[in-house]
Amino acid sequence: MREDAAGKSTAKQTDAERYDALIIGAGFTGLYQLYSLRDRLGLNAQVLEAADGVGGTWYWNRYPGARCDSESHSYCYYFSKELVTEWEWSERYPGQEEIRHYLNHVADRFDLRKDIRLGDRVISARFDDAETLWHVTTEAGRQYEAQFLITGVGCLSSANVPDIPGLDDFKGDWYHTGSWPHEGVDFTGKRVGQIGTGSTGIQSAPVIAEAAKHLTVFQRTANYSIPARNGPLSEDFKRYTKEHSDEIHETMLAGPNGHPFRIEDRPVASVTPDEQREIYEAAWEKGGLRFRSVFKDLLTSKPANDTAAAFIKTKIRAVVKDPETAALLSTIDHPFATKRPPVDSHYFETFNRDNVSLVDIKTNPITRITPTGIETTAGHHDLDIIVFATGFDAISGPLLAMDIRGKNGVTLKEQWAEGPKTYLGLQVAGFPNLFTVTGPGSPSVLTNMPVAIEQHVDWITDCIDTLLKNGKSRIETTPEAAEEWVGETTAAANATLLPQANSSWYLGANVPGKPRVFMPYAGGMAHYRKRCNDVAADGYKGFVLS
Ligand code: NAP
Repeated sequence: MREDAAGKSTAKQTDAERYDALIIGAGFTGLYQLYSLRDRLGLNAQVLEAADGVGGTWYWNRYPGARCDSESHSYCYYFSKELVTEWEWSERYPGQEEIRHYLNHVADRFDLRKDIRLGDRVISARFDDAETLWHVTTEAGRQYEAQFLITGVGCLSSANVPDIPGLDDFKGDWYHTGSWPHEGVDFTGKRVGQIGTGSTGIQSAPVIAEAAKHLTVFQRTANYSIPARNGPLSEDFKRYTKEHSDEIHETMLAGPNGHPFRIEDRPVASVTPDEQREIYEAAWEKGGLRFRSVFKDLLTSKPANDTAAAFIKTKIRAVVKDPETAALLSTIDHPFATKRPPVDSHYFETFNRDNVSLVDIKTNPITRITPTGIETTAGHHDLDIIVFATGFDAISGPLLAMDIRGKNGVTLKEQWAEGPKTYLGLQVAGFPNLFTVTGPGSPSVLTNMPVAIEQHVDWITDCIDTLLKNGKSRIETTPEAAEEWVGETTAAANATLLPQANSSWYLGANVPGKPRVFMPYAGGMAHYRKRCNDVAADGYKGFVLS
């Protein structure tokens, strides 16, 4: 433990456990942040985790078909060459169980478990201005104190269960995909209703349909989806990714989204319509999020985007045999990729099964849940199980779920009443020494997450190191810097088509009453990294160190 960190406190004796740094969450962020503070800086750091295991998102999201849309050789840490070399992924996209194994391996490999407290959900954190100390309380009533508080609570961890009247009276079982039972759910012989057709619903529907007697998908907004083309990785590819890990990592760092492929430097209009079709066709066959990368202006030019949208809609109509169902699935109200574009394994094909039906709840909304099923304005659907694939109170939700109070007792809820305000997505004015990893205002969910997480953790670790080496005890952003950054975040989003998706969770539009603010920073990961580095090099411009 570094004595100059928090050792000289004048804090009164309490029952609280005292650390240099507390980290909330044991997912990708928490594990790497713990390693960085403990093993690189020598600080006394502790992770507090609500779940009974490590893994974060991948601990909770055990729904059928749960799999990452980032390719496995990029959905991992790159901070340790040995780790990259020794871990072997089995499929093109890692499944939930494999990612959970990976994160457990990381916890063991770096001897992290001894500094992780599981089953200890943080409910409040209060900053003591006089002591420069965060006082943290958990659901179990445990008290902790630390100079630095770092949130690694994830962007998609507060389940959004819609407030539909009658749910309490439902006699069957219901589940939200984001907190799925560990023992799984047996759908055999059951009539299942699934609400939601985002990335999650698009993954779960084909798997549920295989087991259930009948699956009814309740669709509010039709969605684009690209075939994942998942499959086992060849030995050649596994060898290639290990031998070329530096190059692959460089590609990930150089791009706007942290993925291991480059975005082509050509606009749609630079090729003929026939060539466009050929390019889209090849990308469709290749599958995955790479589809977005074939032209550089798909997210900035509506006419360019229209060509991709038209191509995908034609594909949907070619796959789905029933014309009415095909029309419902392909009548999409937003430009392609302005909501997070799902990738799928036989999603549209699923609607060709005899035991699957699609219900349009945009035209005929759900009115209530009855003891025996779901009622819409067009009729009643008898169900044994309801699956809510209805997403999350994203990005700001997990932070606001805790009672966080900064200087003068101001709550984060009060501070963010009009929407989240941060500087660089890293800090909130009035909340010294609190760092929000992949917080609102950072590229976060627009990026392959481990890339965004490693960048934030490295920046925070360097920042704390600099602070302590210079005999300072606190860092705090200013309201002016935060206001300016909110302006930049809004401008970055407005330079793209992203705000055109009205019901997007990027905007908070999926949660009733949530302020509509475009939360992630859309200026690109590489550009953002440079901004953060420049700020640090410029004496942490926009922050006050004292
Ligand atoms: P989501 O994208 O927010 O989708 C939620 C779905 O539920 C939408 O179809 C939404 O309809 C519907 N819905 C929400 N509230 C409703 C209500 N009251 N009544 C009827 N329908 C309602 O959530 P998600 O699918 O869980 O995905 C969230 C994010 O998690 C993804 O975008 C992605 O970033 C991440 N994720 C990643 C992976 C992966 O990497 N493989 C997998 C799953 C999720 P509207 O569109 O009309 O609001």
